[in-house]
Formats: sequence, structure tokens, C-alpha cells
Amino acid sequence: MIRVEEALNKILDAVSPLGMEKVNILDARGRVIGEDVYAGRAIPPKDNSAMDGYALRAGDTRGASAGTPAMLEVVEEIPAGTIPEKRIGPGQAARIMTGAPLPEGADAVVRMEDTRKEDGQVAILVEAKHGQDIRLAGEDVQPGEKAISRGEVIRPAEVGMLAALGRSFVSVHQRPLVAIVATGDELTDIDEPLSPWKIVSSNSYSLAALVLDCGAVPMQIGIAKDRREDLVAKFRAAIRADLIVSSGGVSVGDFDLVKEVMKEEGNRMQFWRVAMKPGRPLAFGMLGEVPFVGLPGNPVSAMVSFEQFIHPAILKMMGRVNLFRQTVRARLGEDINKKPGIRHFIRARIQREGDLYTVVTTGDQGSGILKSMVRANGLIILPEEVTTVQAGGMVTVQLLDDSLDWTLEPGY
Ligand code: AMP
Ligand code: MG
Repeated sequence: MIRVEEALNKILDAVSPLGMEKVNILDARGRVIGEDVYAGRAIPPKDNSAMDGYALRAGDTRGASAGTPAMLEVVEEIPAGTIPEKRIGPGQAARIMTGAPLPEGADAVVRMEDTRKEDGQVAILVEAKHGQDIRLAGEDVQPGEKAISRGEVIRPAEVGMLAALGRSFVSVHQRPLVAIVATGDELTDIDEPLSPWKIVSSNSYSLAALVLDCGAVPMQIGIAKDRREDLVAKFRAAIRADLIVSSGGVSVGDFDLVKEVMKEEGNRMQFWRVAMKPGRPLAFGMLGEVPFVGLPGNPVSAMVSFEQFIHPAILKMMGRVNLFRQTVRARLGEDINKKPGIRHFIRARIQREGDLYTVVTTGDQGSGILKSMVRANGLIILPEEVTTVQAGGMVTVQLLDDSLDWTLEPGY
């Protein structure tokens, strides 16, 4: 039996970041940028007003107050998006809108609320400071400045920055194509007529959804019968993927042929019993150049093993540096006992209560009980050596969706 970390490291060692492709900035969301982005222009391009008000010379407002306003001549009006035509001379001001370029000669803006309009003139009711309410050209980004570094994940802020810099396309790591092969004579697809001895291949869909959640592209190869020829045919169909994931057929039953076929077809195939529950059996090898992970067939085992091994592998292929789900410490709401020597991943629901996270299990932990996965937003991780945790004890919880979106309070 090998440790979870050992299996993980072997799988991570076998995958590397994929090459680059150019995509539209909106399609780049969640992907890793493969280039340093330097600004070809200043943002903002010109000094401009941060307020609706009057552009003026601060010196002209010395000593101004509501009782003794500074009276200035209004020489023009500058809506946002227009170019000022006049220079502001002594005793003059221009009506200016937020975002409009500052006219020459002006060195401050006084907001509307601190002024009073009087025909042809404006009364300034406060003393302005030099530079007040002006956004300087390049104060966000200077020309030539590195605005986004390669290796960063494109989030909405990066999309906005790329747009501001005039970049509609950007180079990002390709999304891995992940082939999904279900195996088992008992399996049928969703829409097939159901018979009492058949079960729907839910793994085909839960695994595809997990692949999509990683930002990768699932390729549904379908269901292989527990027969050598059919497995070989399906695995060969999967070979144009960047990663192959199968479920089922890796236990010790007479019809568990996946590992046999992997041995024949691939090379460097390894079969492990990983010291974890659920998800003990795991096959791993290369089919030609393509890494291949054989997950156990039970619906929860398949998902939990995917989370531990395939999720980080896909993120690595996408160029990500941070590969792992977040974990938090939480107070356990019940007693849990286990055998030593095996790491347990227990379906659970975590919630914030004030400054504390609390966690309870979501019921029957059988590896076929998908319902307790449905109710879970995290997995309690109990280390190998632990045998007992009592209610009130602290445990580590892996968050299944990188958030705590079942939190009842807004958090502020
Ligand atoms: P196996 O690892 O092939 O022995 O499968 C273990 C259990 O998981 C069996 O009860 C299977 O019926 C079930 N199983 C295997 N593959 C799937 C699948 N694609 N979808 C849902 N359940 C499955
Ligand atoms: Mg099977």
C-alpha cells in the first residue's frame, strides 16, 4: 500500500503544462496567462477630473470660503470624452465632468457641491489645494510597465486590464482534453431503457462535471464492457486526449480487466493500493504518451480520488502553480472513529458560526452513497495515524468548491 502523497507525486510528475494558444480575453477567464503583458499606453491617457465640478488654478481660490467666495469667469464646458479648447488663465475656470481631460493652465478641480453658479461666473466656496481631484496620466499604469505577469490566473480584474490596454487576445495555456471511459457490464447510459439489473453510468457525468469545474474539456468515450476487446477499443479511442480517466475495473474481481489491459496496451503501468478511504484501488500508467488514471468504480470513490489526484494534475497541465483545494480547520460536531494506517476523506458539511468553522458529516459514508456527496461541501481529512476524534475536536476540511458558499451569514 502506498501513501496518498506518493501516488499524488507520481501522477504530478507524469504531467506537464500544456502549450499556449491565443484566445479572446473573455475566454481567457480562469486560465493561466503565458506572457508578460507590458502596457503600450498610459492609463489614464491624460490628466483628468475625478469629480464633476470646476477646473481652475488653485492659487485663485486662496482664502475662499462660503462667506467670501472666489469669483471666477467660466470660459468653457468640458463633458467627458471631449478635448478642452481653452487654456485656463488667472481668474478663470471651466465646468468639467468626471473623466474629462483637464484643460491646460488648470491645476485643481473643485467639486460641484463646493461651488455656486452665478451668470457667466462661478463662486468657489472653498480653498482648493494644488492637484486636488485630478487623476494623473499614467497613475494606474505607466507606458512600458508590466501590468500582468505570466503564470497569473486571468480573473475579471485581469480581463479588465487587458481590455484597458487594448488587448483583445491573449496567450494562455491550452485546456487539457480529458477522456472519460466508464467500464462495467452493468452500466447503461441515462437515456437507455432501464432494466432492473442495469445502473446508469453516473460516473461518466460526475467525472465530466469535475473536469469542467477544473476548466478543462471532457471527452466522453462512453461505456466499455468488461471485455478485453471493448476496453482496448475504448482506450484507443481515448488516446487523442491529453489525459485519460477511467472508472471501474481496478479491483480484484474476475472482470476487473482495466489494469490487465493497461499493462498490455500501455507501458510503465503501475497499480496501487493507496492508503485512503474511499478510493483504495488506483491504476496509473501511460497509454503511449498519454497519462492514464484508472479510478475505482464506486461513485464516491471515483469522485474523491479525482479530487485528490486528477484535479491537481489537470491544474498543473493548465499551467497553474497553486494546485490544491483550500483546507480550513473546523470544529467537529460528532465523534468519529477509524482504523489506523489509512487516510479517511469523510463527506461533510462545513459552516461558519461567528469566527469559527463547524463541520458535521453528511451521513452514510459507504462508497456508493452519492447522496452524502450531494449534501457535502467539504471532506474531513483524518490522517493515517488518527483513530478517534471526539465531538468538539478540531479537524482539517478540504473545501470541495474552494468556497464556503453554504455559509448562512454574509460575513461582515
Ligand atoms: P468496480 O470497481 O468496477 O468493481 O465497480 C464498483 C462499483 O461501482 C459497482 O457497484 C459498480 O456498479 C459501480 N460503478 C462502476 N462504474 C460505475 C459508473 N460509471 N457509474 C456508476 N457506478 C459505477
Ligand atoms: Mg466493474
